[in-house]
Amino acid sequence: MRRGWRAPRRKERRTLNRFDVLTLFPAMFQGPLQESILRRAQDKGLVTIAVHDLRDWTHDRHRVVDDVPYGGGAGMVLKPEPVFEAVEALRQGPRSTVVALTPQGLRFGQGMASELARLPHVILLCGRYEGFDDRIPRGLQALEVSIGDVVLSGGEIPALVVLDATVRLIPGVLGDEASALSDSFATGLLEHPHYTRPPRFRGMEVPPILLSGDHRAIARWRRKEALRRTRQRRPDLLSRASLSDLDRKLLAEIEREDAGVALENRDERD
Ligand code: SAM
Repeated sequence: MRRGWRAPRRKERRTLNRFDVLTLFPAMFQGPLQESILRRAQDKGLVTIAVHDLRDWTHDRHRVVDDVPYGGGAGMVLKPEPVFEAVEALRQGPRSTVVALTPQGLRFGQGMASELARLPHVILLCGRYEGFDDRIPRGLQALEVSIGDVVLSGGEIPALVVLDATVRLIPGVLGDEASALSDSFATGLLEHPHYTRPPRFRGMEVPPILLSGDHRAIARWRRKEALRRTRQRRPDLLSRASLSDLDRKLLAEIEREDAGVALENRDERD
């Protein structure tokens, strides 16, 4: 997430999270909202997710929501009238935040997901065709959000990405809250590797320390492997992470180990 957008802080007690989704393809949400964590969160009453057909806010026989672009060119553009009418019907005053899914928006990430998880009411606008008439995000003061530098056919899958990542951060949704806290990005690092039974599989061993029962040593190993992974795969994250003295010590160990491996490889080649 580009630094700059944070959910408004509120004094009042935490209220129920509600998401309203505006789409031309409501059926695309049926499967994902009815399975696993998104389903459980709704069943537990921790979140309400309502999906609406944008065409319900049209007034003509053909339920038209798009039109040709001014200035010419390929494709169709989503008209402002039905979107404004829908948002005005769903909005609950200043407690509502409108999010327009667009590849031109702020980059979605773990930081933005945890900000959205604090909000009482989010309205997600799914674009289609060439996207929204530009007066839609501007006039509705929408937060424009992109799930990455890639163009999808519509905003439905991006909206599901936002919903899934956000809802699992609402307190009470995950069985074990600690699992979200140690997930990749939550700590600023990639998470350490995981293993389960059997201890040996096709010649590959589980690191013996994980079988040792020594919880302090396991925690140290996990932190070190999280640092090693992040250094190898996402050095950009490591350069922004806030590191403790122990982290710096572990990184120095990793550097020495990697230098040793590089030396061994060179000796083997010579
Ligand atoms: N013509 C637009 C452009 O070049 O920026 C792309 C339109 S795209 C084919 C149609 C819709 O899909 C968009 O209005 C948006 O709602 C959604 N969409 C596509 N890629 C997205 C992304 N990376 N993040 C969020 N929404 C996206």
